[in-house]
Amino acid sequence: MESTNYDLFVDGDGLESTGDDRIPVEYPYDREVWATVPDATGDDVDAAVTAAREAFDGEWGSFGPSRRREILHQIADTVESHVDELARLETLGNGRHLRESTAQLGHVVEFLHFFARRCEEVAEGRVNAAEQKDGRMFNYVTKEPYGVVGAITPWNVPLLLSCWKLAPALAAGNTFVHKPSEVTPVSALRLAELLTEHTDLPDGAYNVVTGYGEGAGQALVGHPDVDKVAFTGSTETGRAVAAEAGRNLSAVSLELGGKSPHVIFPSADLENAANGVTKGIFTSMGQVCMAGSRVIVHEDIHDEFVDLLAERAADVVLGDPMDPETHVGPIAFERQFETVRDYIDMGREAGATLACGGIETDEEGYFVQPTVLTDVASDMRVAQEEIFGPVASVLTFRDEDEALALANDVDYGLAGAVWTEDMRQAHRAADEIRAGTIWVNEYRVIAPNVPFGGFEDSGLGREAGREGLEAYYQTKSVWMDLSGEVDNPFNPY
Ligand code: NAD
Repeated sequence: MESTNYDLFVDGDGLESTGDDRIPVEYPYDREVWATVPDATGDDVDAAVTAAREAFDGEWGSFGPSRRREILHQIADTVESHVDELARLETLGNGRHLRESTAQLGHVVEFLHFFARRCEEVAEGRVNAAEQKDGRMFNYVTKEPYGVVGAITPWNVPLLLSCWKLAPALAAGNTFVHKPSEVTPVSALRLAELLTEHTDLPDGAYNVVTGYGEGAGQALVGHPDVDKVAFTGSTETGRAVAAEAGRNLSAVSLELGGKSPHVIFPSADLENAANGVTKGIFTSMGQVCMAGSRVIVHEDIHDEFVDLLAERAADVVLGDPMDPETHVGPIAFERQFETVRDYIDMGREAGATLACGGIETDEEGYFVQPTVLTDVASDMRVAQEEIFGPVASVLTFRDEDEALALANDVDYGLAGAVWTEDMRQAHRAADEIRAGTIWVNEYRVIAPNVPFGGFEDSGLGREAGREGLEAYYQTKSVWMDLSGEVDNPFNPY
């Protein structure tokens, strides 16, 4: 495959970087470099933020909600008519199976239409009756966009996670500067080109700067003219991003890592539960924030359940992510592959048993076989830390209290699942588990109208749903005097 050199995308056009450094983009399946992108400088980031500010103060900022709605629907239609091309670019970056990249872009279209339909909500204000001055005052509350949004996204689900930000940000009237992951930068650049060609989105409303986190990412987060920072990535980076944004007191939302539990009670349909755990940890090579990586199973059904899981693990077909016969492609890049391998070794050294899997595989590329570790104690690192690979750590419990205590025995709180046919038990568990999303007898289901985000170290704020839109505007309260008199200045309230 011939390698293509991309430019940045700023103010409706390609922009050559002011620096010379470029980042190679590798296809993880054959490790060939198929593209390079600029490692943007601080000046490049500044140019993108300036373009976004001008669009906010200019044409885009002058549009009312109905015009924004039309344009968001155009954006959705443009993605829909280019799903195959964009999905292929995503798979070439992160090795995710083409089937999955394609499905994710289907979600992008849904999310864009969903937020398009909500533009008018931003124009809705409210009037508050006031008791002050014998009611001869009233108050109204309006919603205003922040201004320029700086968005930073990871490599595992590139365009879906950026559109979780872009769609509500535009719906609320903001403009956008996106720094995609250095591992998967091309789909965002191509999207920017497509939107300029096929929609009425004004120049400068959506800009893309590529680069590493500590260069371009940090420059964007710390830019004094960025009003809101929207970040998805690891908890460690999220802390640094929040600290940097705090220096400017920019608004911040953070979607971070997880170590999500499956709690499997004896009454569960074990076949369904094994399918759900497979979907949550083996599909996508475990490279999802909501990976259900801690399997907490009642001791009476432990052996039967581990056998079912091992059967499914053995059925997973690893290989070429473009081949329809394959189930799962490779790990996205070498450092991530090494991290997963090291965690498996670490778990075994700490006393866990390798029930199946490991890193032996005939495939080239960064493959790890779906792995189940049993005899895991809750204080082992494989039970506490996000591995971001296809590794399920199995723990056992004797009663419900112990199960729920184990489920909550981590610093993360992104998601979790409860598997039981006893609905009272399901509600009790859903109530007790401290996480932003709980599935009962399912896993990994998302929808545009349902908020998603984390408790504790898994994040700050929510994306999607009503909350996902609220994250992109602030409110203004206006008091109006009807009395015509301002008296008693020493008793202001
Ligand atoms: P990462 O934190 O290494 O990088 C994420 C992004 O931040 C990248 O674009 C990177 O270039 C940038 N970055 C790095 N350092 C930065 C800095 N100092 N300042 C500004 N930007 C910086 O994460 P990753 O490896 O790309 O992604 C995997 C992580 O993302 C996992 O922890 C996963 O759980 C998390 N994630 C969370 C969600 C969610 O919705 N909660 C979704 C997907 C992924």
